[in-house]
Amino acid sequence: MNNITSVFKEKGLKLTPQRIAVYKYLKSTKEHPSAETVYKALQEDYPTMSLATVYKALKTLVEVNLVQEINVGEGSFRYDGNIHPHPHIQCLNCGRVDDIENLSFSKLNEEVKEYTDYSVLSNKIYFYGLCPSCKHE
Ligand SMILES: [Zn+2]
Ligand SMILES: [Zn+2]
Repeated sequence: MNNITSVFKEKGLKLTPQRIAVYKYLKSTKEHPSAETVYKALQEDYPTMSLATVYKALKTLVEVNLVQEINVGEGSFRYDGNIHPHPHIQCLNCGRVDDIENLSFSKLNEEVKEYTDYSVLSNKIYFYGLCPSCKHE
């Protein structure tokens, strides 16, 4: 909460209850929801909030780097309240997206640097497979 308050103040942006609600929701989940999922989840508490408002709030939160936008290759983006760089894995059957934690990819950056002679600044890595529950179906 303190984070969003100070960041918005610094950027001169208005901290609306909707923006706070979207941010809080993303901080509370590890499910990497789409804008529509966020919209549906907040509908009960914020019945007047439109999907367009959710989209705008997400766009603003991404711009000020409080939220991460994830593109797993679907038509729409997913959102992550964890802004530290980390790879993701998506289930090809149910679409669920999980974090891959405690696996370091910094060595990969070094290898790519050697191979391409680029100075590597970041990477985005996505894995695809079947999640534990789909695997057993
Ligand atoms: Zn699955
Ligand atoms: Zn994530």
